[in-house]
Amino acid sequence: MKLKKALIFGVTGQDGSYLAKYLIKKNYLVTGIFRRKKFINLKKLDLLKKLELKLIKKENEVKIIKILKKNFDEIYFLGGQSSVIDSFKKRSETYFSQIKPVKIILNYILNQKKKKSKFLFAGSSEIYGNINGKKKINENNQKKPVSPYGLSKLIAYEIIKSYRQMYNLPICTAILFNHESPLRTEKYVFKKIINSVKKVKNNKVKKISLGNISIKRDWGWAPEYMIGCNKILNSKKIDDYIIATGKTVSIRKILHLSFKNYKLNWKKHIYVSKKKIRTFDIKQNYADIKKIKKNINWVPKLNYLNLIKML
Ligand code: NAP
Repeated sequence: MKLKKALIFGVTGQDGSYLAKYLIKKNYLVTGIFRRKKFINLKKLDLLKKLELKLIKKENEVKIIKILKKNFDEIYFLGGQSSVIDSFKKRSETYFSQIKPVKIILNYILNQKKKKSKFLFAGSSEIYGNINGKKKINENNQKKPVSPYGLSKLIAYEIIKSYRQMYNLPICTAILFNHESPLRTEKYVFKKIINSVKKVKNNKVKKISLGNISIKRDWGWAPEYMIGCNKILNSKKIDDYIIATGKTVSIRKILHLSFKNYKLNWKKHIYVSKKKIRTFDIKQNYADIKKIKKNINWVPKLNYLNLIKML
């Protein structure tokens, strides 16, 4: 039997590593693109010798096309500058690293003569911006990003959607809501809270500062989300899908639950720093996951309660 070939942009990241692990387990031949030798995640998952790695710096078009010529069955874009806060300081890097590779990949697929490679882009809930009220967000909601990161994800999403409709290509965006794992760094609030509890418990610190703790997010389990991405590309009708848990929870509640696990009162150890309150932070996101449940039969098994215990 001919083995499937997959290409992963951003293979060194949290999602890239988990997707590589999942695809290798499913007997895919995996090629991963990296921009610098930061293989900590691949090492943690014991993947380093199990995939082919290709170095590409600064979205070099000639090198990307050379790799695409292997005519992969599936291509996943999980790379690019991926921090909302950094995107204000690194606007050009954010737009270039998110949008330029998409343009190169789509043009390549468009010109493929025989079989077309399938393509999935990691989009983000940041494309929606601030949605008023408690209404759940679905794929058709209006999209009004409030950061350069959200805008770059929206531009790529719109290009992919238009190319799919105009040229009938097997390409799509997975609109990912926040997702966590042991590979996530402390730059992100969920992991920061979990690590803070451990530091307080071990008497390493007494107090920790956070920004707006009223904001609400939908947090899921990264490895499950990557299974969702693979399922989307292997479905009958490739389309754009939200991947989330469908549950929303405030940072305040995550604090309460995580500290309670260690019999600690979070109010004694956390203080809100005005400097860390960011005007661009989306107040809440609340996802409607009916479409992916119905069409793809992907249902998340884990939510924030499981994440707190597991991490
Ligand atoms: P991650 O751990 O930060 O990994 C990002 C990957 O992109 C890494 O391979 C990284 O390379 C590479 N990268 C970072 N900056 C880059 C740049 N300027 N140019 C080229 N490559 C760059 O992110 P993740 O959590 O795996 O996320 C995967 C994708 O899903 C990203 O596109 C992200 O925007 C999107 N997404 C993630 C979430 C989430 O909650 N995790 C939510 C919505 C959307 P290095 O390892 O060398 O830094």
